[in-house]
Amino acid sequence: MLIIPESLIADLVTPEDAHAAVEAAFAAMAEGEARNFPVVREALGEGRQYGFKSGIMPGALGVKSGGYFPGNAARGMINHQSVVILFDPETGVPRAMVGGNLLTALRTAAASAISIDRLARPEARVLGIVGAGHQAQFQLRAAARVRRFERVIAWNLHPEMLPRLGAVAAELGLPFEAVPLERMVEADAIITITSAPAASLMAPHVAPGTHLACMGTDTKGKQEVDPALVASARVFTDEVAQSITIGEAQHAVAAGSLRAEAITPLGEVLTGAHPGRRSPDEITLFDGTGVGLQDLAVAGIALRRAEERGLGIEVLV
Ligand code: NAD
Repeated sequence: MLIIPESLIADLVTPEDAHAAVEAAFAAMAEGEARNFPVVREALGEGRQYGFKSGIMPGALGVKSGGYFPGNAARGMINHQSVVILFDPETGVPRAMVGGNLLTALRTAAASAISIDRLARPEARVLGIVGAGHQAQFQLRAAARVRRFERVIAWNLHPEMLPRLGAVAAELGLPFEAVPLERMVEADAIITITSAPAASLMAPHVAPGTHLACMGTDTKGKQEVDPALVASARVFTDEVAQSITIGEAQHAVAAGSLRAEAITPLGEVLTGAHPGRRSPDEITLFDGTGVGLQDLAVAGIALRRAEERGLGIEVLV
């Protein structure tokens, strides 16, 4: 079994790799060639979350284990911590244990960028971001790869975190402005990426024709967007079962204002089974809950590259 520590991941997997791998995973799900197993996600108290995301797809079987530990930032560590374990899908023999922190950021940013690429209006020029934590910078970088955004506007409950996101925008050559939520109405695409327990982005903050990539809500009880806004949008997701239980759509579904049958897997847009956006005026919403197959897809790249380059630590199991 090969151990591929976190410190090697940046040299093994690029954001472009993650984009292609996540697209392939979503398409395989839509074609019935891959499936995610039910998520285990448990609250440990004090905001800590721990769980498992697992699944099977051609060539990959495995699990990501880890969670979100909000006290870490004060200790100089990132709040998300995880590893991915890969097994041989034929024999069940463990093949690798792969550091999951950067992989999670890359595969999550890839998912929202894929949704922007496929669902935002072609002429989208203003990117809005709600959130400014660890994930937000990856989201910004990935979004900038799929559209020619001309400026970025951002809001965060904790405004002191915004300059760090502004520095990433500057690196990308994009003007950046911290704005009140009311000015999100200027955005053509909005990414939400917070750990909020209640909605901040409300219907009046979003203009007709906007694409929303809702990425922060990955657990029961989290919420970033007004359920009425969710219910009024054309909703897409990585996986419907997760969307209605742990994703942003959980609240609108529980309120009875959105039916599970009205939510479309993004993979169906990728395979051409669903046309995606139907008009320039409708609001499209991607409920990115984070599926285990995204993790297996990017960890599989890390394993392949590490084997090719003779990297990692081989251990007997
Ligand atoms: P982080 O801890 O680095 O940042 C947290 C963000 O949430 C900051 O912008 C912070 O200001 C904001 N925030 C904290 N408490 C808030 C509150 N009460 N109300 C509003 N905003 C609040 O976290 P991160 O690593 O950037 O992750 C952000 C979120 O994305 C987390 O909820 C995480 O679980 C989720 N996530 C989702 C996926 C996915 O696949 N969908 C993957 C990774 C992370």
